This record gives sequence, structure tokens and C-alpha cells, in this order.
Amino acid sequence: MRHFAVIGSGPAGFYTAEALTKAYGERARIDILDRLPVPYGLIRFGVAPDHQSIKAVSKRYEKVATTPGVRFLGNVHLGADVSIEELLHYYDAVVLATGAPHDRRLGIPGDDLPGVVGSAAFVGWYNGHPDFADLDPPLHGPAAAVIGNGNVALDVARILAKTPDEFVGSDIVGHAFEALAGSGIRSISLLGRRGPHQIAMTPKELGELGYLRAATPLVDLADLPPAEADAALEPGLRKSVAHLRDFARAGPDETKPKRILFDFFAKPLAIEGDGKAERVIVERTRLAEDGSAQGTGETYAVDASLVVSCIGYQTPAIPGVPYDEKLGRFPNSGGRIAERLYGVGWARRGPTGTIGTNRPDGFEVAEAIAALFPPEGESSDRPGSAGLDRLLAVRGCDPVPFEDWRKIEAAEVAAARAGNPREKLVRVEDLLRASGH
Ligand code: NAP
Repeated sequence: MRHFAVIGSGPAGFYTAEALTKAYGERARIDILDRLPVPYGLIRFGVAPDHQSIKAVSKRYEKVATTPGVRFLGNVHLGADVSIEELLHYYDAVVLATGAPHDRRLGIPGDDLPGVVGSAAFVGWYNGHPDFADLDPPLHGPAAAVIGNGNVALDVARILAKTPDEFVGSDIVGHAFEALAGSGIRSISLLGRRGPHQIAMTPKELGELGYLRAATPLVDLADLPPAEADAALEPGLRKSVAHLRDFARAGPDETKPKRILFDFFAKPLAIEGDGKAERVIVERTRLAEDGSAQGTGETYAVDASLVVSCIGYQTPAIPGVPYDEKLGRFPNSGGRIAERLYGVGWARRGPTGTIGTNRPDGFEVAEAIAALFPPEGESSDRPGSAGLDRLLAVRGCDPVPFEDWRKIEAAEVAAARAGNPREKLVRVEDLLRASGH
């Protein structure tokens, strides 16, 4: 018998646990720990609430969580309830699947003004992450700026633009649904520091902007390179750029009151305002030879009482684990961070790729672990779960197992607004109460 601990119950954590069960069968015990009383990490708190089909992957993770030999233990805080050193003592190998939940800072003057929020906070707010339940972003409008040209910027712009009707079938939390229903935001500027050929937006997600009930996407045809240049793009990007061309051709739909303005070659220099965000000062850029954004010296102001920076994430450091400040993640070689300590997903690679990208990641690390501890080999003399359980009991930590998460899930489903799959509980104490703890 071997004992493994996976820290974090998002996609990377579950794919790793799945791969370990496949490699070891009955010969391993796997504990999946999460600091929150609920599983699924990015699926619950990152994937947009109106993208329910993507969230359906949690059914696969549920199968893993209920596989014999696998336990989910929510409400266990690495660092506070148990240290890495202790986990490495109890388990044969420890896998960090802690994601990248912290926002990268813009690092420009005014980025700490009220009204400036990072995407982790904003997305966490509308997705019911307990850390951001009290964010209360200023939605009085009339203008918001979203910084970045990736899929998260698209998610944020779309959520800001949707009408209440368009959230039917989603699991957007009540506090965000109500605040957005009363929003005065009419203009959403998407600030990209480079051009249409440099976007990191995927075609399906970008295409959705063309079907919003109350908002039109606006692209200036003059920002687009000559159409012939699209041929050199990789197919996905070419499709995305085709959407931009469609938006540019269609122009504004005067029957729709909201605008999503693609402002390309626009690099934020500062955020200004009287004690709160009122405008973003932007420098016009051009593409340098190496593809980077080069300032032209021409500046202008974009009005915005809400500024959401969607410029990427970082993994928080963990005491006792090597950390690369510059990369914002754990340095590793093929997922190996240190002896018997591994990283997967965004904690390993940084915040890129789709949910499926985490699957090969988890399998690769499971393979490395299986090479170190051959499944047919001798048994471990480490205490595994029994050791952890004793320690947590002594420390007064009350883990939430998967069967008690199901009680939370049932309470959330029962509380759903008509047409929606669930109404998430957004406070840890409410989650614990619903779990029976
Ligand atoms: P991303 O794809 O890396 O995009 C980050 C954007 O921020 C880029 O446009 C980047 O521009 C810009 N940026 C970075 N630093 C900046 C700065 N200092 N000033 C101005 N702009 C800056 O990251 P993401 O949007 O956070 O997404 C993370 C990952 O999740 C991606 O792999 C994404 O595809 C995925 N995701 C997928 C979905 C979906 O499939 N539905 C939804 C959400 C997220 P440069 O290119 O110039 O650096």
C-alpha cells in the first residue's frame, strides 16, 4: 500500500488523483485536501457561471472522489492545519495542485484605488468564492474598463454586459445577479496592449459577444491588419480574428443600449480619480519587431469607475516549498519540485491552457510517482490517512468529507432560483453548517 496526498481539488488535483488510481488500483490511498469545504476549485469558482456545459466535467471528478481508496477532505488549510513537512512525513508523495488564485498586479500608479479589482476577485465575487463575497464592485457606471485580451477579459466583459434574462440556467450567485441587474454600466472598454492578431481569446468565447441581447461588440476596422495577413495565423486565432472582422463590419446595433469596445494598441499607464477610479490613462502602442507593445508617446483617457484587470494570475508561496517569485509559481522539472514533492496544473505551469490541459499534467506526475514507487513493489511504512487524521483531530480541524459536501450540494440545489442549477452558499460558516459540521 502507498499513501499519496493531493493538495487542491480543482481540475489538476482531480486528474492527478484519477491518474494515481489508474496506476495503483487498490494499492494506494489518496487524500485530496482543500482549504474550502467544497471541491472543484476552478470549476466552481473560475469557470463562468453561464458556461454550465464546461462545469459538467465535475461529474467526472465526482467519480474519482467516490473511488475506493480516495478521500476528499475539505476545510483543511495547508500551512495552518498541517505543514508540508508533516504531509511529507505521512505520505509517500505530495502533489501540489493549488492553482493560481492570486491576481497579478498591474503595477501602475493608481492600481490600488477603490474601483480597481483583479479578475480573481471579480470572477470570485460573481462565482460565490467566500474570499470575495464582500467585494461589492462599483457598478453605478456608466463606463467600465477591462484590461487584458484573454478569455478571462472576455468572461468579465460578457458578464458585465448581460441582462438578467441571460443568466437563466447559470449559477451566478444571488448577490452578483442582483447587483448586475441594477448596474448602470453601458460602456465596457476592453483594453489590449497589442493588436487583433495578438489576442488570447478563443473563437467560441469571442463569438458569444455577437449574440448578447443588450450589447454590441465594436471593433475599429482600422485596427485590423490587411485580411490577407490572417492566412498566416494558426486556425483557432484565425477564427477569432474572423469574429473581430465580423464585429467591425456589423458596426453598432442602435437597438442595444450597451457597448463592448475593443480598444487595441492601448497600454494602461495609470488609473486616476478623486479617491476612486474614474479613468484609465492609456498610451497608444504599435507592435515592435519582436511582437511586443511599444509606446508611441500618445496618451488618452478612458473613463471607467470600475477597472477589472484580467492580466493573469499567480500561485501563492507555501512555507517550506521552493518558489519562483518572477514566474509566480513553484519551480519544477517535469512536475517534480523536490524529493517526493510534485506540482501539477497552474501551480506547475503557470496560468495557461484549458481545463483539459491539466489531464496530461496529472498523468505525467502520476507516472513519475509510479516510477519512484512501483505499484507492484513493497508497501510503504508511512502512516498515510491515519497519521493525518490523528494530527487534524489534535489540532481541532474538522475536515469535510465528500459525503458531507453532498449535503452542501443538496442545500444549494434546493435553494436555486427558477431555471438555475443551484444557488451557491458564499460564506464558509454557511457551507460548514450545511455540511453538518
Ligand atoms: P491570458 O490568456 O494569459 O491573457 C492575459 C492577457 O493580459 C493578455 O492579453 C496579455 O497581453 C494581457 N496582459 C498581461 N499583462 C498585461 C499588462 N501588464 N498590461 C496590459 N495587458 C496585460 O490569461 P487569462 O485571460 O487570465 O486566462 C488564463 C487561462 O485560462 C488562459 O489559458 C485562458 O484561455 C483560460 N481560460 C479559458 C476560458 C474558456 O475556455 N472559456 C475562460 C477563461 C480562461 P499580452 O498578450 O500582450 O501579454
